[in-house]
Amino acid sequence: MNTRETLKVNEKGHLEIGGADCVELAREFGTPLYVFDEAYIRRMMRVYRDTLEKEYAGNGLVLYASKAFSCEAVYRIARQERIGVDVVSGGELYTALKAGFPASKIYMHGNNKLDYELEEALDAGVGCIVADAYAEIDKIDREAKKRGRTQNILLRINPGVEAHTHAYIQTAKTDSKFGFSVADGTAEKITRYALSKKHVNLRGFHCHIGSQIFEKQSFVLAAEKCMDFAAEMKEKLGFVTEELNMGGGFGIWYTDEDKKISPEGYGEYLEALISAVKARALEKGLKLPYLLVEPGRSIVGEAGITLYTVGAVKEIPGVKKYVAIDGGMFDNPRYALYQAKYTPVLASRAGEAAAELVSIAGKCCESGDLIAVNVLLPKAETGDILAILSTGAYNYSMAMNYNRNLIPPCVLVREGKADYIVRPQTYEDLTRNDVVPDFLAQTDK
Ligand code: PLP
Repeated sequence: MNTRETLKVNEKGHLEIGGADCVELAREFGTPLYVFDEAYIRRMMRVYRDTLEKEYAGNGLVLYASKAFSCEAVYRIARQERIGVDVVSGGELYTALKAGFPASKIYMHGNNKLDYELEEALDAGVGCIVADAYAEIDKIDREAKKRGRTQNILLRINPGVEAHTHAYIQTAKTDSKFGFSVADGTAEKITRYALSKKHVNLRGFHCHIGSQIFEKQSFVLAAEKCMDFAAEMKEKLGFVTEELNMGGGFGIWYTDEDKKISPEGYGEYLEALISAVKARALEKGLKLPYLLVEPGRSIVGEAGITLYTVGAVKEIPGVKKYVAIDGGMFDNPRYALYQAKYTPVLASRAGEAAAELVSIAGKCCESGDLIAVNVLLPKAETGDILAILSTGAYNYSMAMNYNRNLIPPCVLVREGKADYIVRPQTYEDLTRNDVVPDFLAQTDK
């Protein structure tokens, strides 16, 4: 079993997170339950912030990529830790603002931002919009003009670096719905276009080469290519890149197939990236840009676990043993989406040795509703509490109400004490927006 500092087996043989006994948490809050360790989230935010401070004289900003896990509490933590955030929808922007997050430290992303989302971003006064389409630049220009000001933007470019990661979550290939390619000249073309707009203030460039990346070299290469592009734009257009945003994508531990990086180890990834930017700036005679990174998964991923109660246990002789849980793809769709792998721990008997190979099945009406396939566990019985590790990122944020299952609540643990940061949904929440139009009601008569 993984023994991150935040995860321990206590004297009762129960799994503990952040000093809280998982069996007690399950009893108090019910299951399924997302549990987040506050200390780990803060530590990760600080590692990135302090590295930027130390290695780059603080000439930049860490943005928490809030698509990984968005709720008011996490924006509050980011604010307290003096970092920025990125948002990718009106909903994330609304949540950040509601949490009192300063708009000037919000970056707005999205490959197809809707008109009303752009208007909301301008109304809020977000620090920067990362533009990803010609029509979007036109819209920002018009809306900024209406408001009698200019809007800072970055352009999303594809430096053409292929990171070693899962193909479905790789976003910087030329065949991508995100960004403009440096290689085929479209990045230069949109740079010229943005510079022609009076109410758009082009500050520089953004790239994000993919997710769950462990190769430092991928980030180094991407940084070098972005700096090369900045040098090219200076030479050709006289454009000075003031800001460079290198995205997120730092990999985390899900299973022992992944590297286990200590929080401080992530600082080394950022250091490598910073060194590449500095070296290229020196080589090409460029000013050091204000540097941004946008880690999401690595900040909250390993900080979170999900607790479930074991229900039916079904053995298909000679084939498989299924351990069914009271959650599934509605709280964690990542296996169903791209066969993401996870490590389960029998939280109620965490001290026991693994005894059998099982598959963890969800309760949705889909055969593909699985959480982990062929994983080792002690003999699980109905009523046991099961934990799935590293579920802090892209679980709650991807949750849905399929089969009208309720999205589980989230609790935050600080020094052994837990409280809600997202309350449980109710059946009433599920039907809140349901209506029966008159013509349908008439049919009853
Ligand atoms: N920035 C952008 C533009 C992204 O698309 C993503 C993830 O898809 C991130 C940051 C965060 O990536 P990660 O959670 O892998 O750090």
